[in-house]
Amino acid sequence: MLSSIVPIVDRVDSGIPDNHIPGEEIVDALGVTAIAVVAAVAAAYLVWRVRWGYPHQSIPRVLAYHKVTGFELGGTWVPPGRFISQIEMLLENGYRFIDEETFLEVIDGRRRQSSREVLLTFDDGYRILLSNAFPYLASRGIPSLVFLVSSYIGKENTWELYWPGRRFRHLDWFEARDLLQGGVSFGSHTRTHRNLTNLQREGVREELAGSKKEIEDRLGRPVYSLSYPFGRFDAGIIDETERAGYRAAFSLYPGRGCGRLDRYALRRDGVYIIDTHRSLRAKLGRDGLFWIEDLKGRVINGVAALTPFLKGMAKHI
Ligand SMILES: [Zn+2]
Repeated sequence: MLSSIVPIVDRVDSGIPDNHIPGEEIVDALGVTAIAVVAAVAAAYLVWRVRWGYPHQSIPRVLAYHKVTGFELGGTWVPPGRFISQIEMLLENGYRFIDEETFLEVIDGRRRQSSREVLLTFDDGYRILLSNAFPYLASRGIPSLVFLVSSYIGKENTWELYWPGRRFRHLDWFEARDLLQGGVSFGSHTRTHRNLTNLQREGVREELAGSKKEIEDRLGRPVYSLSYPFGRFDAGIIDETERAGYRAAFSLYPGRGCGRLDRYALRRDGVYIIDTHRSLRAKLGRDGLFWIEDLKGRVINGVAALTPFLKGMAKHI
């Protein structure tokens, strides 16, 4: 008799209903969370697919690096050891690096595009690459295209948002000339690295034509390629790019140019500190995870484009 009473008393005291299963609340919460995550991912994919989608197969693979260096607070750096292991991994996976001239032949339609060929680019032309990237690339016979900011040659990167820590110096003309012998070609990244979409037509012209002429005069080589600062451009800027005599202009994640090859809105995939071998393969292979990498890149590029605004804010603090 006593044994049949005790369980009833226990149930009443604990307040737990008769049909309770241990851990049920946790399972319910996990289920709701999983559904919410799946719904959010599906919504992000749909937005990406409608807004941008996969690039057309005729659009060549181009990687955009910035700094190859030890730790800094910005996000556009890759440690030297990781940079080398990324390039080695791509070589092991059958990728081949082409030079600027070969790339131009592809976009001119004079050469077939291969999904295993990659153009390696560096924005801003930092001196740190002299020790951390170019010796390795030269030893492997890998060409690259470097975009110089012509008014900052040999100077520190005061155009960039200042993160406490250190400044980075740009290559000077002597260093750039030496690199010409080692498979490096140079393009323009404008004169002062301003967001071109904020300038009047005359200012855009000066940034594009002025930098092209100065680099050509100093290096004694024609400049064919342009990299838009922060990847930003519009139809008027494209007109000026063509008028200045460029044969190719690179953005990062252009809104236009996804569906066809456009020589003045060329897509590049940025490589940042958060990238892994897997994410790099997804960027170039354009596989099932490509859309996540593309979306991530667009978000990072959007934040980077706030640099002039944040610099303006910082002056008033
Ligand atoms: Zn830049």
